[in-house]
Amino acid sequence: METAQKTCTDIWKEAPQYWEGGVTKYWNEDPWTRASYSVAGVGQKDFRDILSRPEGLFHFAGEHTSIYRASMNGAIESGLRVSEEIKKS
Ligand SMILES: Cc1cc2nc3c(=O)[nH]c(=O)nc-3n(C[C@H](O)[C@H](O)[C@H](O)COP(=O)(O)OP(=O)(O)OC[C@H]3O[C@@H](n4cnc5c(N)ncnc54)[C@H](O)[C@@H]3O)c2cc1C
Repeated sequence: METAQKTCTDIWKEAPQYWEGGVTKYWNEDPWTRASYSVAGVGQKDFRDILSRPEGLFHFAGEHTSIYRASMNGAIESGLRVSEEIKKS
């Protein structure tokens, strides 16, 4: 928690006055953590297009199908893409 607060304050000097609380989690100690996020290997540059392609009525979202791989931004971007796909289909 102290590390998170210090990191925020290093970036935004005014952060402490807005700090309401927080939680930190060490994922390596979580028994349910089995992986993290997708990583493209060497030569796998076309996989995203394949993974994000609709298959009949099925549409695929998730960070692994996004241009912003391995991030929450990517998860959201892929959800927006799929909602547009469904609207058009
Ligand atoms: C330790 C760690 C730290 C991270 N830190 C950051 C960060 O600081 N910033 C950032 O932007 N991103 C971070 N990420 C990445 C980010 O969390 C992921 O990219 C994002 O959550 C992926 O979202 P998603 O919706 O694609 O997949 P997920 O969030 O994995 O959602 C998939 C869901 O599907 C469910 N599911 C799986 N199989 C089935 C099934 N058969 N039936 C029904 N449901 C199923 C799962 O339970 C899960 O709820 C981090 C990831 C990890 C693991």
